[in-house]
Amino acid sequence: MHRVLLLRRLYSSVPPSRRLSQSAAVAADRIDASVLPIMPPFDYTPPPYLGPRAAEIVRKRSEFLSPSISYLYKNPLNIVDGKMQYLFDEDGRRYLDAFGGIATVSCGHCHPDIVEAIINQTKRLQHPTVLYLNHAVADFAEALASKFPGDLKVVFFTNSGTEANELAMMIARVYTGCHDIISVRNAYHGNAAGSMGATAQSNWKFNVIQTGMHHALNPDQYRGIFGSAGEKYAKDVEEIIDFGTSGRVAGFISEAIQGVGGVMELAPGYLPAVYRTIKKAGGLFIADEVQAGFARTGSHFWGFEAHGVVPDIVTSAKGAGNGIPIGAVVTTPEIARVLTQRCYFNTFGGNPVCTAAGHAVLKVIEKENLQENALVVGSYLKDQLKALQDKHDIIGDVRGRGLMLGVELVTDRQQKTPAKTEILHAMETMKDMGVLVGKGGFYGNVFRITPPLCFSKEDADFFLDVMDIALSKI
Ligand code: PMP
Repeated sequence: MHRVLLLRRLYSSVPPSRRLSQSAAVAADRIDASVLPIMPPFDYTPPPYLGPRAAEIVRKRSEFLSPSISYLYKNPLNIVDGKMQYLFDEDGRRYLDAFGGIATVSCGHCHPDIVEAIINQTKRLQHPTVLYLNHAVADFAEALASKFPGDLKVVFFTNSGTEANELAMMIARVYTGCHDIISVRNAYHGNAAGSMGATAQSNWKFNVIQTGMHHALNPDQYRGIFGSAGEKYAKDVEEIIDFGTSGRVAGFISEAIQGVGGVMELAPGYLPAVYRTIKKAGGLFIADEVQAGFARTGSHFWGFEAHGVVPDIVTSAKGAGNGIPIGAVVTTPEIARVLTQRCYFNTFGGNPVCTAAGHAVLKVIEKENLQENALVVGSYLKDQLKALQDKHDIIGDVRGRGLMLGVELVTDRQQKTPAKTEILHAMETMKDMGVLVGKGGFYGNVFRITPPLCFSKEDADFFLDVMDIALSKI
């Protein structure tokens, strides 16, 4: 039976308390109430929310917070509770969170094991310095190092992905005695001077000029001139080294799957070819795993592993703490030694509470088989999204791995014209039907589907039904 018909029939049998609040979607006249997809049941009711309402928070934000901070949706959501893959607004309305997994919550919002670890450590001690001994810090370092191949065994903790990338690039410079670093266009590496320099997204990021920073051709399998021929794009890195440097470089930094850049997995063959080139030029290979790491891609624990390379330095953050700020730089003992020339001190980097959270995240990923779930549910979702592509001409491309998926919208498949406005409409309609999804890409026309790793097959079906209807409404 066609899915929408089936849904209609099912919907009428669902008690009103279990239905989605229809008000937003129906009141906006966007959706026929009888075809609203049903969110999978979930046995949790948040406590009543008695705090300020959305309008009051918007007023305060516009008066007291930086005007540079924007929010999603015409009427921004006041999110007050979270449980696993779901969020709840000020009225207790439930949303499927198909985006927040990448930002923070690898294992699910307020995961009880992780909350418990944070509370226990907070009650015992939070001392933001590594100048004394505390087992929480060393235990997480040991557990994290065990997730890496080869000689990647030494961990430096930071507070964010930005700090991790800044430190990684500094280590590469100190270790090699060279200054030049190559990153890939359309990459995102952070918000401080060095990482903004490596972030080649000057269409919306501050274009901080960094000497010695070079941006290589993006091995973009959808829009790139060489399609999926990774080795051809890699030639550009050789040319940058030959014509733009002394012939030696400090390193190369890239994500295996560009996250903010629109969930673009680098073309196959690119990273191994670049690796050889960088090694010849004496540089270090830095893998930014801030988004793709921590089991998200399903097939591997780290994104780089799908490309058959072992980096010299790996950075991670975001999901590492399931909402608690922590970042890490992992490298080999030999490379790590260069920092002993000076002092690298980071007040909060590697504090007991954040490392207790990180350690609990690793345990939950293992205990709940979240990597396998990312593989199974992610592969199913990707296949079904490809089926949606056959139905909706506006879907130009479906890509990604595990629970890091991208759907690029175009108004013309031949010209690949970015559907920049259409995606905004679709996001609003999806939100009204109870699904929160992200967007990104150079043109801002790519859905980013990056839920917590506990996302189920039923969630995937609900997501697909909602996206199907939203795209039909454009
Ligand atoms: N690297 C990548 C790949 C990222 O996506 C981000 C954040 N979007 C960062 C680095 C920076 O991390 P943070 O925001 O924690 O500084």
